[in-house]
Amino acid sequence: MPKFITFDVMDTIQLKDLSFKPYISSAEIATAVKNVAARINEDLAGKNPLFLCVLNGAFVFAADLFREITIPGAEIAFIRMKSYIGTQSSGEVQLVSGLTEDISGRTVVIVEDIVDSGFTLKQLKSILQECNPAEIKVATLLFKPESLKCDVTIDYVALDIPPAFIVGYGLDYDELGRNLKDIYSVVQD
Ligand code: 5GP
Ligand code: MG
Repeated sequence: MPKFITFDVMDTIQLKDLSFKPYISSAEIATAVKNVAARINEDLAGKNPLFLCVLNGAFVFAADLFREITIPGAEIAFIRMKSYIGTQSSGEVQLVSGLTEDISGRTVVIVEDIVDSGFTLKQLKSILQECNPAEIKVATLLFKPESLKCDVTIDYVALDIPPAFIVGYGLDYDELGRNLKDIYSVVQD
């Protein structure tokens, strides 16, 4: 079996050609997720929100976030989009697998792993808007404010980060690293 991930004494990891260093611990992530969930529980109480997890990257965040949601009518569904090739946003966003649920008249909460340029989110919002939801909210684990290139509203951000490329907790580098419990940032050379 090829060995893709190696650990050294400094906790730096190697994924294919790139090195990553520990950046946000699983404990810090858990606290941030709980804080976001508490705000959502308060804001959307009494509604029956449909949480829409954007696969693949948001699957870990969505699982942790959704279990902190105490709104009795809360439901979850999954949609698949892709915009990254390697460590660069391709600029072209593809809807790889579509929505089967009826969202008309409902409160939809898009659950994203990370908002970078914002193009994925903007396009997803316009696709969903055509299905006449009552409202669309956005919850993201991570937000890179300095990378935002379009006008899009984000209602709930767990953690703001600078523009560096990160992996772990669902986020990948060429499909590797999604299983890391902590978040790592790329080591620039
Ligand atoms: P955007 O369209 O906002 O530029 O990018 C959104 C998507 O690109 C995210 O949902 C995520 O899948 C991917 N992405 C953006 N920044 C990063 C990053 O630092 N690391 C990883 N692994 N994926 C990222
Ligand atoms: Mg994503």
